[in-house]
Amino acid sequence: MNSELYYRHSGQFTPVGVLAGLLAGAGSGALLAWGVEHFVDWAREAHLSAILPVTAGMAIGAIVGFTLRHFHVRSLWIAVSTAAVASALTLYLSWAVYVQVLLARAGEQDTLAELWLNPPVIWSVMQQITVEGVWSVSRWRPAGWQLWALWTTEAVLVCGGAIVVARKLVDCDAFCERCERWCEGVESLARINAGDRDALRRRMEMKELSHLEAVGRVVEGTRNWFRVDLHGCSQCQDLNLLAIAHVTWDPQQGKETQWRTPVVRNLFLSQDEVRVLRKVAARLNAAEASPSGELGRAVN
Ligand SMILES: [Zn+2]
Repeated sequence: MNSELYYRHSGQFTPVGVLAGLLAGAGSGALLAWGVEHFVDWAREAHLSAILPVTAGMAIGAIVGFTLRHFHVRSLWIAVSTAAVASALTLYLSWAVYVQVLLARAGEQDTLAELWLNPPVIWSVMQQITVEGVWSVSRWRPAGWQLWALWTTEAVLVCGGAIVVARKLVDCDAFCERCERWCEGVESLARINAGDRDALRRRMEMKELSHLEAVGRVVEGTRNWFRVDLHGCSQCQDLNLLAIAHVTWDPQQGKETQWRTPVVRNLFLSQDEVRVLRKVAARLNAAEASPSGELGRAVN
């Protein structure tokens, strides 16, 4: 695959953008940690449940991702590292709050600020907890390596969830460097028969756009097709990107589900090539053999 044919983020960012992403992520994460540990009676179980860490991680990732987008950060490396640091800070503060709750129950009233600045105390309490464990579920009282394994899993879920979501938000749209704006929205042009992905990709890279016509419009009743989309800057119309995804529609057990696998992603097209593509798509769409309306709506 020739990387020059495809759009990639410029990697540019500003320190203000990174700092804002970090503060927004860690700040909201701190509020989340404080709220959960203080107001939810099942604070101890919160350190066991897989759903809460994943949700918390994804929420932090979303806040980091949207903030980075707002400040025009177009670097996946920055998105990943900012989300990692913000979620790690959140995790640390959630431990500070949790340890404060445990110490308060034991009659020691340390303020959160004192604990926040005292990692050795937090570490020491964590080690003490692992000796006998601190909570039980159905007669199971995890301690020792089992508790460490649970906490490690929790940390991976929080940080992993944040990283995946923040990266996705910064990666999902192209950025027009000329207009200094994100390209939003995808225009669906046509649906064609699914076939050899590599062959289609090579044809598209050679800009043989009329090949789409040769592949042909998807036939009625098919649950498997290639979807042709256009993404780009609507302001200058100078940045145009072709995307082709493999879509499978599965009405299994009465449910309609679909998923997409990229065949071509963010392939540069000139304005002339876009004009050719639109004509090809118009001819494809004018052709008969329209699938059922139900199927059509499932994709669009
Ligand atoms: Zn533009």
